[in-house]
Amino acid sequence: MKKIYWLSGLATASLLLGACSTQAGESHPATEPPHWTYEGEEGPAHWGELDPAYELCSAGTNQSPIDVETPKGQDLTNIAFHYQPSEVNILNNGHTVQVNYDAGSYMELDGIHYDVVQFHYHSPSEHALDGKLFAAEFHIVHKNADGNLAVVGILFDEGAQNDVLQPFIDNLPAEKSDVRDAGVKINAADLLPAVQTTYRYSGSLTTPPCSEGVHWNLMTSPVELSSAQLEALTSLFEGGNNRPVQPLNDRPLTEDTTP
Ligand SMILES: [Zn+2]
Repeated sequence: MKKIYWLSGLATASLLLGACSTQAGESHPATEPPHWTYEGEEGPAHWGELDPAYELCSAGTNQSPIDVETPKGQDLTNIAFHYQPSEVNILNNGHTVQVNYDAGSYMELDGIHYDVVQFHYHSPSEHALDGKLFAAEFHIVHKNADGNLAVVGILFDEGAQNDVLQPFIDNLPAEKSDVRDAGVKINAADLLPAVQTTYRYSGSLTTPPCSEGVHWNLMTSPVELSSAQLEALTSLFEGGNNRPVQPLNDRPLTEDTTP
């Protein structure tokens, strides 16, 4: 099993907390990781050059997201979800909007207990199915007792209004913000599709520092959100907040075939 190559605790914090300026030229304390974006000179093609701590973004061979093309079907042990409602503790970190999930929710993946840490979104999606991107993708980020990460990805098509998502949509901070309790609850369990089979592979964070050893579990069935809900998400990050797909290389990619 691969270990996660945490380059520094602060690099980890960039995923979990988000910490960089969105204003060009603004200096940040030496303890903060350097600024990055989704386009231009600090965009995905350059992440690996921005800081030695981001090296895996260009040099890594187990990177995410990927295009899911020819998964190998297998009857895997289903993920057991033990999610409870959480307060919408919401923040805009300049790259996405995230909900820091209340303690106590977890999943069991291959017999290992992973606590839910946070969820956030990308639009359009980061993962593709047979070359096709989706309208949006939510990532539910989990961590186990050893600090290893497992992410559950949910693909969204434009379609019917998604009532489960609405407390999140109603409280999106338009600008970079500190976390605040929106005074409403959301249950990540209700975001999941009815059929909970997944594509699984070993990948990375999709944002700098692109650390590897992340257990990826992408739901095979998309769910829906309305055009108005999608517009609320996309309007915050003009041009999108998705990293392009990365080469699969020689990694196994499996599809859990049995619900
Ligand atoms: Zn993500």
